[in-house]
Amino acid sequence: MKKKLPLAIQIFIALVLGIIAGLLLQGHADFAENYIKPFGTIFLNLVKFIVVPIVLFSIMSGVISMQDIRKVGSIGIKTIIYYLCTTAVAIVIGLVGGNVFKGFFPVLQTSELTYEASSSAPIMDTIINIFPSNFIMPLSEATMLQVIVMAILIGFAIILVGDEAAPAVKGINSFNAVFMKCMEMILKLSPIGVFCLICPVVATNGSAVLGSLAMVLLAAYICYFLHMVIVYSIAVRTMGGMSPVKFFKGQLPAMIFAFSSASSVGTLPINMKGCEKMGADKEITSFVLPLGATINMDGTAIYQGVCAIFIASCYGVQLTFPQMITIVLTATLASIGTAGVPGAGMVMLAMVLTSVGLPVDGIALVAGIDRIFDMGRTVVNITGDASCSLVVSNLEKKKG
Ligand code: ASP
Repeated sequence: MKKKLPLAIQIFIALVLGIIAGLLLQGHADFAENYIKPFGTIFLNLVKFIVVPIVLFSIMSGVISMQDIRKVGSIGIKTIIYYLCTTAVAIVIGLVGGNVFKGFFPVLQTSELTYEASSSAPIMDTIINIFPSNFIMPLSEATMLQVIVMAILIGFAIILVGDEAAPAVKGINSFNAVFMKCMEMILKLSPIGVFCLICPVVATNGSAVLGSLAMVLLAAYICYFLHMVIVYSIAVRTMGGMSPVKFFKGQLPAMIFAFSSASSVGTLPINMKGCEKMGADKEITSFVLPLGATINMDGTAIYQGVCAIFIASCYGVQLTFPQMITIVLTATLASIGTAGVPGAGMVMLAMVLTSVGLPVDGIALVAGIDRIFDMGRTVVNITGDASCSLVVSNLEKKKG
């Protein structure tokens, strides 16, 4: 009988082949964009299609299965504290990394730069936008935070209604199983998706990376790496009761997927599967991960720290200590507001730059290769979520 390669290995092979194909196609980026990328887009569309029902039903069924509102509260608080603390550490690492590399950043002739920043919403609007005003719209527009609020609200109501809601519980659990199966079917296609997504990126960006941007890219990737190795290893080891090596091994398929798709939300299904495999509690995973894919963006925070320093140094601006503190605060908020889709973090960079009076035009400096920053930051983003699900699972297990 033929033995099938595990999906993780298939995805890895697809990644390597995609990079090789991309390198070979460097002179023919149009071909890669026109004929290979569409298949990656089809795959991503399928993932996007499944992600709303997965988040809705898995959070509802997660909340219901806890049967106790206090338990949801205790998990919620641990999760939010973990997310906020790791994000703040991430920006500090980004700022320190940016400062260490500052000597290598060029001071550029910046007069020709233009970047149209889409205005970032004021903070109160951001808060208002968490709450849905309509039952259908959050689902049809995939506004994830609103979907999460909906799911938690309905989940609480089901717990409070009690016996009378028994059919609803059955229905939700059954739909949850159906959509999970659907997701599994779509994920079988991920090697093809990964190949078709990474190949055009390499074909288009390959040569740009060799230019003066290599240094800032390197700075960001070193910070991504350090943050994962230091912060998540310590968290998983001390609070998660797990060896970091085992954690990163189990996390690898989701990391590869995040790297090629640059979307936390898109990676959510595969991340959920991976965490359960590593022993995270299912009901906790189904709550912590969708929330993390929406609000916890450590990689994005690092990127914003590094880029703020880079842009400041290109304009010959010396950032003061209070300005750095401002960056830590705004970048934490900005990373919460960043959607888990490709390119979102760059838009939020505008908010960070404005907060310390740096020209938003500076984004143009890094915009050309944003995708390459994005791939790395998404890997960090979803790894942070996964580490949280293991930590919270372990803490709850100890308690209970
Ligand atoms: N692409 C990132 C993510 O999905 C968000 C970002 O652009 O920083 O996690």
